[in-house]
Amino acid sequence: MICHKLKVIEQMSEGSGLEFVYEDLIVQGVSIDSRTVKSGNLFIPILRQLDGHDYVEEAFSKGAAASFWQKDHINPPTHIPLIYVDDCLQALQILAANYRKERSLKVIAVTGSNGKTTTKDMIDSVLGTTFRVHKTTGNLNSQIGLPLTILEIGKDIDVAVLEMGMSERGQIDRLSRIAKPDLAIITMIGVSHLSTLGSRKEIAAAKLEIVNGLSDDGVLIYNGDEPLIRNGLKDITTTKPISIVTFGEDESSDYYSASSVTNVQGSIFTVGDHEFFLPLLGAHNISNALAAIAVASIMGLGPMEIAKGFQSLQVTGMRMEKIVSPIGFTIINDAWNASPVSVSAAIQTFEGLTEYERKFIILGDMLELGDREEEYHREIGRNIDPGNIDFLYTVGPLGKFIALEAQKRFPHGNVESFLDKGELTQVLKKKVKKNDVILLKGSRGMLMESIIPVLLE
Ligand code: ATP
Ligand code: MG
Repeated sequence: MICHKLKVIEQMSEGSGLEFVYEDLIVQGVSIDSRTVKSGNLFIPILRQLDGHDYVEEAFSKGAAASFWQKDHINPPTHIPLIYVDDCLQALQILAANYRKERSLKVIAVTGSNGKTTTKDMIDSVLGTTFRVHKTTGNLNSQIGLPLTILEIGKDIDVAVLEMGMSERGQIDRLSRIAKPDLAIITMIGVSHLSTLGSRKEIAAAKLEIVNGLSDDGVLIYNGDEPLIRNGLKDITTTKPISIVTFGEDESSDYYSASSVTNVQGSIFTVGDHEFFLPLLGAHNISNALAAIAVASIMGLGPMEIAKGFQSLQVTGMRMEKIVSPIGFTIINDAWNASPVSVSAAIQTFEGLTEYERKFIILGDMLELGDREEEYHREIGRNIDPGNIDFLYTVGPLGKFIALEAQKRFPHGNVESFLDKGELTQVLKKKVKKNDVILLKGSRGMLMESIIPVLLE
């Protein structure tokens, strides 16, 4: 993690006003949260729902060694080493960008509508066979999370794998310019954030901002099955040519899988002459794995190391996570998030499972879909196969539209919609038996995973 004299931190963050007596003091690591601040940290008071400046004193009482202070803020505390900055968030980002510059490691950045965290975890696992890798913890992919992740990178690290998220234009541009990636990945284009961005073309353009910070000999690795990315690339005006590598189902991609088989243990798929086993469910995860294989190959790894990396894969929770209950039913917890593309992908995978007696799909609302939200939900309902799925329960006012469509085709009583998770859980708990399997999915705001402890009781 970052470790410098305060004098250097002041320069690296383009701050000012540090008192002379504090210049040689050393800070190690950065914190934005007074509850978790560690001894020696630089505290950065960010303005969010709360104003971090109100917690500077507390951070000090817990061992922070210094703090930023936004210039327009009144009453700075005395007897505390302060670096004055125009804007604390911006100063955090500038500091991270300069810390990145002084390191000679390879940076790999991952963006896309879905699959960022999973692909990041796969790349970490595969490269981890050969390199010392630092990856984004969990989902820390934001304007705050990404700089914090960079500042955590240790001195001995060879490769950083960074997740980049966004909700509007300009955000990936900023993150990419901070991280200066050597390899940049776009996993896919979905419809998340359609309400703020307006069209899928705009979503693709927002993801393509990742090329703006690409290092001079950097490579863009993208999903070749998505014409919007290829077309969007034509609209980008850069002074230097961008090297490109593609992956996907289509044989015209540089990395594609000629065949694959998926069961509840995971997927076996081939790329060229090599067969890989991925201990994860879902065809969409083969696509993510192809992106990881592209990265690994560019980094000089062979199929043996790649296969070994997939075998030891530990993905961040709630992504097709398998949980077996004490009484012997299985929950596939995919409740991290939901969009029309990811719900369809999860259902398709779920329909492919053959080793269970009865199948239940539990869906919460898909949020942030804009004007066409009702139609997106109805479409999911129309596409669930009553020949394959036994019961469908939905939660939330939008989930109701999924149920309304499915009810037209399912046996009476097998599809129900609930407004309340508690009620759903009671109905489901009475019904579910040994050898049944339940798919659980919904947007982050729906917190669908909260029903799991009750089901397992
Ligand atoms: P977030 O925006 O919340 O950070 P993310 O992009 O990091 O999401 P993951 O957490 O890796 O995505 O996966 C979330 C869900 O998206 C998965 O559970 C799965 O249902 C779906 N998903 C993952 N990869 C793909 C893909 N390549 N194509 C379509 N859906 C996918
Ligand atoms: Mg994520």
